[in-house]
Amino acid sequence: MTENAAVVPTAFGPGEEADKKVYSCACHCGAVTFEARLGATPPAIRCNCSLCRKKNATMVRLHENDLRLLTGSTSLGCYEWNTGKAKHYFCKSCGIYTFHRMRSRPDHFGINASCIEGLEIDPLTIQMIDGARLD
Ligand SMILES: [Zn+2]
Repeated sequence: MTENAAVVPTAFGPGEEADKKVYSCACHCGAVTFEARLGATPPAIRCNCSLCRKKNATMVRLHENDLRLLTGSTSLGCYEWNTGKAKHYFCKSCGIYTFHRMRSRPDHFGINASCIEGLEIDPLTIQMIDGARLD
């Protein structure tokens, strides 16, 4: 088991609810696949910190119990900066940001909303996170 597999859940935890749906997610090349268990109106966020500004991703926040990595633990790179508490994962093959373990809520992940197959981003209400003040 790699270091990444140890810190990215590979099985859903407790918390399954009837109104949650499991979405398939993947990076661009398909090396990294994962699943996200989301309610009908998943919390979408954007962040203005210096990293998120350059990533330019809309993210969906979920509890670590609702994320499971299926394939690609050895393909995942991890980028750390500033305090090093947040873990920003990306596919080493195609470079796509997949998800990150949050600094402000270490038991939560933000995942790249565009990696979630079948999720329409436009109708979601997007909350702006003022991450810049933590830079
Ligand atoms: Zn990839």
